[in-house]
Amino acid sequence: MPNYSEKPTIIFDMDGTLLDLAYDDFIWNHQLPLRHAATHDCSLEQSKQTLLQFYQQYNHTLNWYSSQFWTNKVGVDTLALQKEFKHKVALRTGCLELLQYLKQHGYACWIATNADREGLKFKLEHTQIAAYFDVIVSSESIGYPKEDLRFWQKLQALHPFPIKSSYFIDDTEKVLAAAEKFGIQHLISIAQPSSLAAVRTESAYPMLTDLSDLMVMLKHAEDLKIYA
Ligand SMILES: [Mg+2]
Repeated sequence: MPNYSEKPTIIFDMDGTLLDLAYDDFIWNHQLPLRHAATHDCSLEQSKQTLLQFYQQYNHTLNWYSSQFWTNKVGVDTLALQKEFKHKVALRTGCLELLQYLKQHGYACWIATNADREGLKFKLEHTQIAAYFDVIVSSESIGYPKEDLRFWQKLQALHPFPIKSSYFIDDTEKVLAAAEKFGIQHLISIAQPSSLAAVRTESAYPMLTDLSDLMVMLKHAEDLKIYA
């Protein structure tokens, strides 16, 4: 019998890792410019430029991930906009298969997301995957984005986990770099966070094409332990 207590904790990012980033791209890069242009009576091109400027200014900060921040900043209710199109929120290929496998084999699964609490809530309600996870954390609750080392320090203080043996899967390079600095050793990226965007060819970390490929990696790691 395998000793389940020795199974590593698997920590997942949400958007672009478990869920298709095509939804977020649709909201923030297609719908919001349209709504912004209509609200402020300007051209779509002007709206895109204004938003791009803001996006560049706030990327990788906690504000970037806050619907409330963007609602105040651009004058469009961005949470209502996201909920209006929640039917477009979709799991990435292999997601359910992987989560079912991890549950059946006794792995502890966590979500560590930069999505704000409201965004996290409606996405989990829509996709019905919350039951697969032991811990679900939004960086809004932690007070720092995952790109910041302090996110990891605070997460560890609130929910202790074995740093060296845990796996962390995320589609954002800067987030993986912060987790690496914190000491997590099994770091994995995503080859195609959005089903509508090109497959990435480069990452400092191994990349998953299909989420279920992680099962093969974990089986291999277990075999190495058993036969060591
Ligand atoms: Mg992500």
